[in-house]
Amino acid sequence: MMVCAFSFAQCFIDGPPNSGGAMLKTQLHTQEPGVRQCCIRAMDIRRRAYAPYSKFSVGCAVRGADGEIHVGVNVENAAYPLCRCAEGNAVSGMVAQGVLQIEYLAIALKGGGSPCGGCRQIIWEFSQGDKDVKVYMIDDNGSENPWVSVMTIGELLPEAFDL
Ligand SMILES: [Zn+2]
Repeated sequence: MMVCAFSFAQCFIDGPPNSGGAMLKTQLHTQEPGVRQCCIRAMDIRRRAYAPYSKFSVGCAVRGADGEIHVGVNVENAAYPLCRCAEGNAVSGMVAQGVLQIEYLAIALKGGGSPCGGCRQIIWEFSQGDKDVKVYMIDDNGSENPWVSVMTIGELLPEAFDL
C-alpha cells in the first residue's frame, strides 16, 4: 500500500485484486458533489436489489451525458443464468431514455468490488471510446462515509472488444 501524498487520513493507493494497476481510494465525503450524489443514489437503490439466492445486493447509478442519474440493481432468478447485474440494468435504463454516453458511474456493494467482466464490456460500449470514464466502487458497509475506490474503464478493461 502506498500512502497518497495529499491526504494521509482520507486517501490511499492500493493495488486492486488481479490487477497490476493502482486504485485510488477516498472516503465518500471527499468526492465532488456530483459524484457524491451519484454514489448516494447507488447506495440507496441497492436496497431494492432482488438477490434472494446469493444475498449479494448491488446497486448502480450511472450519470449519463444528459446529466441525469439512471439506476439499476441486480435481479436474480431461480434459473441462475438469467440473473442480471446492476450495472447492465442501469445502463439499459439510460439507453431507454435515449442517452448513449456514460459520464461516470457508481456501484455500491459490500466489500466494494469491481464490475464483472461482462459489465466492463457494457460500460465500455457506452463510454463511446473514452477510456477515462470513471467507475466509482463503494464499499457499502452501512457507513454514511464509506470508502470509495475509483478506476477508469480503460484500467478495468484494457483490451476491450470492439467491432
Ligand atoms: Zn456484471
